[in-house]
Amino acid sequence: MTNIKEEEKANLIMSLRSMGIISHDVLSALESTPREIFIPKHLSHYAYENRALPIGFNQTISQPYIVALMTEKLSLNSNDIVLEIGTGSGYQTAIISKLVRKVYTIERINPLLVEAKSCFKKLKLTNIVTKTDDGFTGWLNMSPFDKIIITCSLSSVHEDLLFQLKVGGKCIAPIGNNSGKQILKCITISNKREKDNWEDICEVKFVPLIRNN
Ligand code: SAH
Repeated sequence: MTNIKEEEKANLIMSLRSMGIISHDVLSALESTPREIFIPKHLSHYAYENRALPIGFNQTISQPYIVALMTEKLSLNSNDIVLEIGTGSGYQTAIISKLVRKVYTIERINPLLVEAKSCFKKLKLTNIVTKTDDGFTGWLNMSPFDKIIITCSLSSVHEDLLFQLKVGGKCIAPIGNNSGKQILKCITISNKREKDNWEDICEVKFVPLIRNN
């Protein structure tokens, strides 16, 4: 990697810090993950700008600030088993995989998953399990999970999905519709389910979750 890229990356990390990301572990995971390999070559000069970028098939790689924020809000532990719905480029998956025991990730567009898997291989990330599918109802066979992250917007989180979390587990998801307002929400599961805690984090803009029929 050139020095220019290193300098751009250092500036990005500094700006994430100034935007309120305080977790040292999250910032180091971003610092040690080359975002340029997850985006199309002709856009690699934008890799360390704080913006979402197209990755083909009408999908986008999320903005680094949102990746850092979602990761931080999940309060990940090194022993955690995490489910991600919407692998996309695999960038968010790679960041999480550096902080936890195992990541299960589901993507409905197979060619995106093929690309993402080649990035995981390049980075020697061996704790990621993938499948091509509609992830709306989660991955029951592999549950329970400590954390669930949904990286596409949906109008509500399906109860089947929340039942795949352990007590004390967290789910982070953009809730709302594609044309209206979407709010990033973090749900923490309590032992009395009616007491689950729903926290609104901020307004966001994600591509929509699409169901397979
Ligand atoms: N975190 C990713 C964001 C990808 S965009 C990144 O930084 O690259 C959201 C992804 O969700 C898209 O790749 C889209 O294909 C996928 N997606 C949409 N609906 C889905 C569904 N029902 N199941 C699984 N993945 C879905």
